[in-house]
Amino acid sequence: MPLSPALRGLECVQCAARFPVGDHPRGCPACDAAGRNANLFCVYDDTTPPADRQPYLDTPALGEGNTPLLRLPWLPGVSVKNEAANPTGSHKDRFAATVVAHAAASGYERVAISSSGNAGLALAAYAAAAGLRCTVAGYTRLPEPVRAWLADLGAELRLFDTDAERVRLVRELAARPDTLAVSNTAEPFVGCHPVGIEGYKRIAWEIAGQAAEEVRHVVVPTSRGDLAWGVYRGFADLSGVPMPRLHLVEPFPRLAAVLGGAPVGGHFPGDSGRLSSIGGHTTTVQAHRAVTLSGGSAVVVSSDAAGEWYARLCGRGHVWEPSSVTVFAAYERLRAEGVIGEGEHTVLVATSHFFKGL
Ligand SMILES: [Zn+2]
Repeated sequence: MPLSPALRGLECVQCAARFPVGDHPRGCPACDAAGRNANLFCVYDDTTPPADRQPYLDTPALGEGNTPLLRLPWLPGVSVKNEAANPTGSHKDRFAATVVAHAAASGYERVAISSSGNAGLALAAYAAAAGLRCTVAGYTRLPEPVRAWLADLGAELRLFDTDAERVRLVRELAARPDTLAVSNTAEPFVGCHPVGIEGYKRIAWEIAGQAAEEVRHVVVPTSRGDLAWGVYRGFADLSGVPMPRLHLVEPFPRLAAVLGGAPVGGHFPGDSGRLSSIGGHTTTVQAHRAVTLSGGSAVVVSSDAAGEWYARLCGRGHVWEPSSVTVFAAYERLRAEGVIGEGEHTVLVATSHFFKGL
């Protein structure tokens, strides 16, 4: 599966420097040298049709994507993009399919990632599909079923108490010529591998094709903004489709603090509680750009508030993890504050299934 000839290179989200397609686990080399790390993103030949703006047109397929866009009769004006319907139960399958295609095409024998659970499981499945080895650096609190499934998929699981230890392992592996690190090794994190993030653009393309009316707002759970940035780039590809405002949901102020004037590279204390999939004490330039370029916002939803929505949604038969249902609490807040007006069609991205216990 060759690299698409339409892919022209990688561009920095912060300084706009361009680089040939390559692997930069610390993000933009120019910004790294200046001590203000930022991620890169894929840029294509201007004449490339939107549907071909992918680094690999042929990726290992386990049935990812084309997830349902649900209308909820009890919540008018809202659609839910149900990413739990992906093969390993989360949107991360889209990232994994794309980044594993890149690893295989580039001759790597192993992929490595630092993950709170969903991304590791997705990467393990797609690595198995492509015949690659996979190492997952997780937390010691990783639920037992996820540990067992990672082993079933042939992945090597290494558990650590702290983020610094996880990053140290990925950094060591990234230095090996046989291994592609798909999460980054900068501190603070800049986001995951830009080639993998391209897989999230399809969420925007699918929403645009599935929605019966113009989408004015999209609400996504966020940690380092990979999903939000991919969705932003996906809508940006679509000429004639207005850019919806992207609202990024976090468990305590990180991006919200940056929008209030704090430095983007800062460390933000806070408790993510049960919201492990969107934990972490830093934010990223790409998350900030997704909000500011789309005219969106950052919304803080506590673990307790998410827990209330989790119970309400389970009561209606929905099976999304607590981090995913933060989008419902955020929608309620944005409506109450008038940020989302009555009748403005809003898509909530429900990122992950609850079966993993995350
Ligand atoms: Zn840069």
